[in-house]
Amino acid sequence: MTIDNFNFNGKKAIVRVDFNVPLDENGNITDDTRIRGALPTLKKILADGGSLIIMSHMGKPKGKVNPKLSLSQIKDAVAKYLERPVEFAEDCAKAADKAAALKPGEVLLLENLRFYPEEEGKPVGIDKEDPAYDAAKKEMKERQKEFAKTLAGYADVYVNDAFGTAHRRHASTAVIADYFDADHKMLGYLMEKEVKAVDNILSDIKHPFTAIMGGSKVSTKIGIIENLMDKVDNLILCGGMTYTFAKALGGKIGISICEDDKLQLALDIIEKAKQKGVNLLLAVDCVAGDAFKNDANTMICSVKEIPDGWEGLDIGPETTKLFCDAIKNAKTILWNGPAGVFEFDNFAKGSRAIAEAIVEATKNGAFSLVGGGDSVACVNKFGLADQVSYVSTGGGALLEAIEGKVLPGIAAIRG
Ligand code: AMP
Repeated sequence: MTIDNFNFNGKKAIVRVDFNVPLDENGNITDDTRIRGALPTLKKILADGGSLIIMSHMGKPKGKVNPKLSLSQIKDAVAKYLERPVEFAEDCAKAADKAAALKPGEVLLLENLRFYPEEEGKPVGIDKEDPAYDAAKKEMKERQKEFAKTLAGYADVYVNDAFGTAHRRHASTAVIADYFDADHKMLGYLMEKEVKAVDNILSDIKHPFTAIMGGSKVSTKIGIIENLMDKVDNLILCGGMTYTFAKALGGKIGISICEDDKLQLALDIIEKAKQKGVNLLLAVDCVAGDAFKNDANTMICSVKEIPDGWEGLDIGPETTKLFCDAIKNAKTILWNGPAGVFEFDNFAKGSRAIAEAIVEATKNGAFSLVGGGDSVACVNKFGLADQVSYVSTGGGALLEAIEGKVLPGIAAIRG
């Protein structure tokens, strides 16, 4: 079933959203992007004449009640956006009466699901090495099913609009779907958009396809790099992983970030790119600093000739040109991870140039997806988020999807 084809009139819908918004020390929301992201789904249900049960996690309370992570803190913001009062259920597992009392157009927000260990389904207070762990895990899985069944009992229909947690098999993101038939479970609009964006990158590819992988380490990106190797024409590897490659190729990298146990892996990636005919682009020059801070002294040098006591913190001008040429000509673009330490303005130039090249390619008709980790913060910092095709809300979920993994939250609905 799709959300557009379902008439929620007179139905109770339980919707899993990702309202894990950042709060300041007084409990005020500092960034409400995630709430705004779910509004199209929530408003469609209410406009149809349905009633709404909203559920989410917030932070990592590890299965215990923690007032600092109470969703009661965001109740007023949700009410403001939905332009109606919102009822709150202090105990998400004991909300049957409140759910039953909901009339069309009314809204109930459940307390943080992760106050219950059953949500994540991981046994608490027992070490993985403990001989009793397997039995505890089995018992917790049974409790997770009961918890999911309780939540399912509140509603006639289940909607999952929480892409950020789609890679987790939690009670509210996947297990709950077992208690609804195929006509009464569906993805929300945000999820549909995310899934389509990933499809564009993984199957509906227009060539040339340029992927830009940055960030700090090779080790966290290797799964995606390997999967993309079969699809891309140009693979740009930048950010901190530059120096693992430079060292593996015999360069002197000073005190640049480097994974010494991944030198062989770097050489394997280079070899694999050759075999597959992928144009692998690595940085040739860098902006090096003599300290890890914004006002460090800087110099431009080859990534293979960085003096002792200096570290590469951004891509240099020659590299920027090389990368941007491969981006501007592309028809499909994926960007994950900054080209340098973009948090420091003096080392953000390379990342900014990449973002601007992506914007230019997008204007010329390319499909560009930015997501996973810090590249989203990057396009936001440069004020360019609305000039790329799609900015994903998913961190780990997006990366796992691009690695080609089946996300439990999506499989639970689509089968
Ligand atoms: P990730 O979470 O793996 O995408 O990594 C993002 C982080 O990598 C950002 O905080 C960047 O500051 C950092 N980063 C990028 N380039 C470098 C570099 N050359 N040296 C150290 N850190 C870097």
